Amino acid sequence: MVRIGRVQRWVRKTLGLGVFISGIAWLLERRANQGVRILLYHKIADRPEDALCIGVEDFDRQMAYLAQHWRLVSLDEMMVAFRSGRQLPPRSVVVTFDDGYADNYTHAFPILRKYRVPATIFVVHDYIDTTRHYPWDDESEDHALTWAQIFDMQCHGISFGCHTLSHPLLNDIQIEEAFQEIHESKARLERRIGAMRYFAYPRGERRDFSAPIKSIVAKEGFLAACSTIPGTNMPNSDWYELRRTVVEPVDASPFQFRLLMMGVTDLILGLFRHGWASSRLPGVSHRCTETRT
Ligand SMILES: [Zn+2]
Repeated sequence: MVRIGRVQRWVRKTLGLGVFISGIAWLLERRANQGVRILLYHKIADRPEDALCIGVEDFDRQMAYLAQHWRLVSLDEMMVAFRSGRQLPPRSVVVTFDDGYADNYTHAFPILRKYRVPATIFVVHDYIDTTRHYPWDDESEDHALTWAQIFDMQCHGISFGCHTLSHPLLNDIQIEEAFQEIHESKARLERRIGAMRYFAYPRGERRDFSAPIKSIVAKEGFLAACSTIPGTNMPNSDWYELRRTVVEPVDASPFQFRLLMMGVTDLILGLFRHGWASSRLPGVSHRCTETRT
């Protein structure tokens, strides 16, 4: 299990409140609304101590808020617009999930259907339909989706993308091995569930993919690839490092989620990852850390 850092949570909440009170949030919102925000979830389950989990009720409330106040679009709709040089209307948002946990079916899927959310789930091929659990998880219930669950979701508007065969950090392995992880996951997933148009880099921070890795992803025929670099996306963004906003338990309350959608989290995560806070809060970026052995 990836545990939540208390210091990080306190700093995030305090900074968020400060930015909100100062009025900077509205300036950020105006800027952020011009681009498409892609949200990233992992597990939807009621385990508040797990940093990768968003509670079921919190997730329902977040989707209800988006359905009411935002325009929920698919990655396909975003990329059709971007490829013709068009931006989507303001307040467009995409919902994605990484790692393909079974609770995406049992807990998230009914809520996604309820609010007609056209989400994309990035699956790790070698974990599908197995009882294996990821190296960072220590709870047996956190296994991956089955093929039957994937087929059922596909029939109801959920799409799927590649997240490699085994979830290595692609910059930490040989380039030939990275090619296999990208090429084979696409080929094997396409044999089972059809065309794979999108890729998500494991962990997805800037240090986790390089120009040669992006080049492999493009040459393999993916239309775009998602990172976890915070921010929003425009037609002239780099389509092979689309920005995404990780939704964490600290963002669960309606107020914090609103701050996240206003772009306040982009600013704070920028401080955590690249500024003063990164040296004081080690491990803040370890959401999806792979330990390839
Ligand atoms: Zn992942």
